[in-house]
Amino acid sequence: MQNTLAVIAPLTTGRGNAVSKAALSVLGIACRAVEASDGELDIVLLGPGGETAAADVVSFGARSVYTVDHDDLKEYTAEAYARALEEFLRLSNSEGRSYGFVCTATSSATREFLPRVAAALDFPMASDVVGMSTDGDDVLFTRAVFVGNLHATVRLNGPTVLVTCRPSAFDIPEPVSESSRVAPVELKSSLAHARKRFMKLESTPSSRPDLSEADVVVSVGRGTKGPDQGIPLAAQLADVMGAALGATRAVVDAGWLPNELQVGQTGKIVAPQLYVALGLSGAIQHLAGMRSSKTVVAINKDVEAPIFEVADLGLVADLFEAVPALTQAIEARQSGG
Ligand code: FAD
Repeated sequence: MQNTLAVIAPLTTGRGNAVSKAALSVLGIACRAVEASDGELDIVLLGPGGETAAADVVSFGARSVYTVDHDDLKEYTAEAYARALEEFLRLSNSEGRSYGFVCTATSSATREFLPRVAAALDFPMASDVVGMSTDGDDVLFTRAVFVGNLHATVRLNGPTVLVTCRPSAFDIPEPVSESSRVAPVELKSSLAHARKRFMKLESTPSSRPDLSEADVVVSVGRGTKGPDQGIPLAAQLADVMGAALGATRAVVDAGWLPNELQVGQTGKIVAPQLYVALGLSGAIQHLAGMRSSKTVVAINKDVEAPIFEVADLGLVADLFEAVPALTQAIEARQSGG
């Protein structure tokens, strides 16, 4: 029997104190691990606002929800969050609560801080896990490698193993009626890195849904030809659909849209119900960030564009004609026309 710890961190990047859907998906893999091992589930929330955010996770069958707040966690740095989790695991061990399986959802932050914990505590780790199976007493993890083009199955040996899981690969479990106990945990030591200091966070305010959380994403590529041409047309389409706006790296590198809207290997990983790709070719690095979308619709004037290989619906057309027509058709339908 081994216990499982689901880690939700950092809370600072969420909207208000709500736990994001992507972060919550860790409970999918955590609950499967608990079923396979017959152990207990605990959840730890790292960062400010944990006591409020705990309300979002108390009904998933965990024995306890721990909240860890600390002056050094006010702003995200990988070093401080790694130290916080290390300290929490040490403290749990000293109190007789050990965890065989520690998991968190893949995000740019967890990609950065979890390997630090693995290195510091000498625990084996698998990142971007998309599946889990058993082989006798061992648990095998399937992970996406080479930008999601290959799946590798790995066996981790050790009293504690660490995993980040791809949010779209595990469904958030159904809530249960019983509520978990919430317990604040105080970490006394400094978590800050002696040579790294947070300076400022730059983000662009937007009234559109958050890209990582949205059910519908309209993404733009170089074919939109910039902020004075196709991007406003795409933005109008996004607005009538209540969608988030996303972009390729070519678009953010050109300065047409802010970096935080980049989807892909070096941007955000999204898995909306509907992904609308406008004037983007579908480069492998872009597909890495959106290929788990439920339905993909692509508009591109080049019939050979690789995006059509992953699209459920493809329109070979000039986006400057197709997008306004689509926006108008949706508006007409919304107003009952
Ligand atoms: P293009 O490839 O130039 O495609 C433009 C498309 O628009 C074409 O298919 C064209 O047919 C179409 N088009 C042109 N005009 C019209 C029109 N009027 N109507 C309809 N269609 C039209 N890219 C990412 O997106 N995300 C990443 O995270 C990412 N990470 C990377 C990491 C590394 C290490 C590297 C090397 C690259 C990365 N890239 C990433 C870049 C990636 O390789 C591509 O260069 C980029 O995705 C191309 O962007 P694009 O599709 O907008 O442009």
